Amino acid sequence: MKKKNNNSRYKKFWKLGIEEFNTDQFDISPDGELVVKEGNFQYNIYDIVKKYGSPVEIAFPTLIENRVRDLIDTFNAYIKVLGYKGKFFYHYAMKVNQNREFVLPAVAEGANLEICSANELFLVKRMIEQDKFNIKIRVICNGPKTEKYMSLIEELRGKGLIVIPIIEDHVELERMKKFNGPVGIRVNLNIRVQSHWDKKYNRYGFTEDELLKFGKIRNLSILHYHISSQINRIDGLVGPMKRALNLYAAMKEKNPGLDTLDIGGGVGVPYEKRMKYYTAKSIISHLVRTAKRQSERLGIKHPNIIAEWGRYVVAPTQITIYKILSEKLLENKDDKYWYSIDGSFINDLSDTWAIHQKWHIVPVNNLRLGKMKKVWLAGSSCDSDDRYNAGDHILLPRLEDCDELYIAICDTGAYQDSLASHHCLLSSPAKIFAANGEVKVGRRRETPEEIGKMFGW
Ligand SMILES: *Cc1c(COP(=O)(O)O)cnc(C)c1O
Repeated sequence: MKKKNNNSRYKKFWKLGIEEFNTDQFDISPDGELVVKEGNFQYNIYDIVKKYGSPVEIAFPTLIENRVRDLIDTFNAYIKVLGYKGKFFYHYAMKVNQNREFVLPAVAEGANLEICSANELFLVKRMIEQDKFNIKIRVICNGPKTEKYMSLIEELRGKGLIVIPIIEDHVELERMKKFNGPVGIRVNLNIRVQSHWDKKYNRYGFTEDELLKFGKIRNLSILHYHISSQINRIDGLVGPMKRALNLYAAMKEKNPGLDTLDIGGGVGVPYEKRMKYYTAKSIISHLVRTAKRQSERLGIKHPNIIAEWGRYVVAPTQITIYKILSEKLLENKDDKYWYSIDGSFINDLSDTWAIHQKWHIVPVNNLRLGKMKKVWLAGSSCDSDDRYNAGDHILLPRLEDCDELYIAICDTGAYQDSLASHHCLLSSPAKIFAANGEVKVGRRRETPEEIGKMFGW
């Protein structure tokens, strides 16, 4: 097969170069290697892996910047076009990926922060002390307010930071009567949406009835909800907003200082790349229209809107690379093979195991081979759950056609890092950052000494 031909055919097969799948930055080199473009810079992923070894995670901070900028610009554009009177604030949900190289690009493009623990707030404090964060950055504090967490909130507020605790239960409600700044309160909306996280019971926040009975809440500025994550359909995002606005209007009668609706996170990414997915633009347009129409119907001033989308912003900005070590016929399945990888789903991509997360997986080299094998992937830990088959199988090149084969798991930038573990004492992948045409090691692969130390050796 001639090397230059058929690039678009191969890109189509591997679902690369498609904007609505968040793969428009991917290309295939004439030698069949995976390439990531960044403006007119490009990174040959196979070259990076040969240089730094595997397993390895490669993240692209410029993509984070672009996604945050687009999100904020799109909200502001619809606010302007539709004549919406409220303001928009984007808060990056830090728990989704707390790596410095993820948080700073988001902040650089104007993201505020949403945090969920004292330790996350500690990082914010450190950046403020180092004069890295402008003191005008707004920080929303979710999660249980322990004494340590509360005293940090108060300390930073004393330094002039806009830090807004969200009240989640009765103990916090009591505690916040003494807090001298704006506060938010979280509602557990009486509505369920189709998503990854469709739990029947939700322990976060107060019920709608409870909130209506509270009457006046001191310094109340924000009504907050976070309904779910990886919400699959637009009505799963619009429905909760409508319902929350009704409550907002009712609460505003007793709380005239209430001026902001915080719609939380939940916007999904098309991990599987199987069918058309909603775009951020269509969601934002629906949300701003809904906020406008509903507040006019209710006769209230257009509220400011806060969005805390995390997964949507960072999932597509990292890939995880493994080498295929060996193959084995699957017992009783003549046409399927195990491919063993030099890393672990349980350790590095825990959601594979925890919530049966599906992934888009493509070769890093040999992207222009015609013949494929049906494959199940086997992780390197000794656990029989350490595997992935996308529900049935995935297609990868035949090992007999390759000198060696590496694979890239796409969209690994959200949640996987802080959930990572060390089953069988495997080392976590090294972490590489590629930005502005340069490739840098962020975190080396862990050595046996470092791993041993974690367990007291
Ligand atoms: C986790 C979380 C988010 C981010 O959710 P995504 O689904 O990743 O957008 C936002 N807000 C709160 C309160 C959260 O707990």
